Amino acid sequence: MCGIVGYVGPRDAYPIIITGLKRQEYRGYDSTGVALINDTGLHVFKKKGKVAELEQSLLGKPVNGNIGIGHTRWATHGEPSDVNAHPHQSNNGKLAMIHNGIIENYAQLKSELTKKGYSFKSETDTEVLLNFIEDIQKNTQSPLEEAVRIALKRVSGAYVILLLDQDNPDTIIAARKGSPLVIGIGKGEHFLGSDATPMLEYTKEVVYVNDYEIAIIKAGELILKNLGNERQMPYISSLDLELAAIEKGGFDHFMLKEIYEQPSTIYDCLRGRLDAEKGTITMKGIQDNIEALINAPRYIIIACGTSWHAALEAEYIIEELCRIPVEVEYASEFRYRNPIVNKGDVIIAISQSGETADTLVAIEKAKEQGAFIFGIVNVVGSSISRASHAGAYTHAGPEIGVASTKAFTAQLTVLMMIALKIAKEKGTIEQSRYIELLVELENIPEKVDAILKNGDLLKPIAQKYKDAINALYLGRGYNFPIALEGALKLKEISYIHAEGYPAAEMKHGPIALVDTNLPVVFVATKDEYHAKIVSNIQEIKARKGKVIAIITEGDDIIPAMADDVFFVPPANEVVAPLLSVIPLQLLSYYIGVLKGCDVDKPRNLAKSVTVE
Ligand code: GLU
Repeated sequence: MCGIVGYVGPRDAYPIIITGLKRQEYRGYDSTGVALINDTGLHVFKKKGKVAELEQSLLGKPVNGNIGIGHTRWATHGEPSDVNAHPHQSNNGKLAMIHNGIIENYAQLKSELTKKGYSFKSETDTEVLLNFIEDIQKNTQSPLEEAVRIALKRVSGAYVILLLDQDNPDTIIAARKGSPLVIGIGKGEHFLGSDATPMLEYTKEVVYVNDYEIAIIKAGELILKNLGNERQMPYISSLDLELAAIEKGGFDHFMLKEIYEQPSTIYDCLRGRLDAEKGTITMKGIQDNIEALINAPRYIIIACGTSWHAALEAEYIIEELCRIPVEVEYASEFRYRNPIVNKGDVIIAISQSGETADTLVAIEKAKEQGAFIFGIVNVVGSSISRASHAGAYTHAGPEIGVASTKAFTAQLTVLMMIALKIAKEKGTIEQSRYIELLVELENIPEKVDAILKNGDLLKPIAQKYKDAINALYLGRGYNFPIALEGALKLKEISYIHAEGYPAAEMKHGPIALVDTNLPVVFVATKDEYHAKIVSNIQEIKARKGKVIAIITEGDDIIPAMADDVFFVPPANEVVAPLLSVIPLQLLSYYIGVLKGCDVDKPRNLAKSVTVE
């Protein structure tokens, strides 16, 4: 994880770096630092804490210079502290480096360097790689770029690194493997970022650096090479992202803004694809590969975190509508076990950022075994989109709140369209049901809007349960993955321990937790299991648990037994998860705010999980 920023050109680098780091804090926020070169040499400023704290501490300090790099950290090696913060400086003090990722063989390199007399101030893997580079530079008397190339050939793990060299004050050296790196091209200036947000107001022309590439960047020159030292042609893409999309727009938090954006993000996701009147779904990635998708003996969906919950939802929908067996895998497990992937199997990989390290490696593993890879990602041009044979973007716009909300509903929307399209082409859905579900999906943005208009009704419920120590989330069928997602949101945002369970399964263990203090959230919208879930509510009430139920308008059974209810508009059970998840997002948000938690940047988390 972590965010990296760099600048070289005629402007003052510092404000560009600080603004860029603030925009990338969703990637990590336990410590921050910048390195700048100016007339008086190389200067490094770093500190435990968020970017604003570093900025405050640097008021009045000499932070001028036209070249610099900055880092916001998500610690992997060494606790968050001033010394472990990046940039690190090499033993001779001339090199400064920031790093996103993990150097897996750092221990071995460290012991080699220690024997040679190198000393280390921090506990990080980063400082080891940096001194390894310095050592190669010293021994081979080669330019820094060459030393980096030699070093990276010996390194295992994942990285984006940016280096400054006091003796070459006009150049940034950058390299990438497994973590994202974007270079923005201005007029006589270059910008660097983990994503494109630091450069938005300056340029729309960007280069997404590939794995195993090294960039040598000066104000007016960009040279790209591979690790074999061959020149690569930078491929310039055009950015389709506006500044307003990454600002809070009057909301207290990004998370709240993103929850409230969902009517339009779901609409954007459907737009140009679903036409209920004509009875069509247009998705090029599906269309172009329809034979592979229809004839696949099996789908394996790979994801992590919230995306894994979208995957589980997809299992229910695809198996029901398309009659294709689906397996849902945690990417981190899939990649390290010895999974059976047969020729013709389709792998669907889901990731908001498109950079999730475990998912990326799992894709490569499945590819080696002959699978067809279909990527579902939010960030255009991201690594997973490039590693997939085909795919679909979720078009939810930048998601900055660390806890995923609008990206999840966009993933569900895309997966529902995919299931409907494949079912239609495969002939496993009746025309009347197909059209009914298209209309249902098309009506979702309006219904989400209606839920959000009642969002304040969740505030007193949040107030009532904010001091709970534990919570249970229960749902059946299509609402079971939503129960998991609701529990995850509460954990992430408010640090209340929460478990999601299939409602009937709670009898096999979690019911032991029920007492007068335990809030139990039922996701109980009207579906074929309604009578069953009513019985489960009774089971909780019989043990004096507190029941909060998300139910369908018109339900007059559950309000009579639940302690608190929140109504959502009626919808077909296949699309209902897009509605029932919204109040759960809001409930977590309000509880998090009431508890004084930093809802946009929950402790220990980061958004784009580019480490294993
Ligand atoms: N492994 C490095 C560290 O712990 C970089 C982590 C990151 O990507 O922020 O400092």
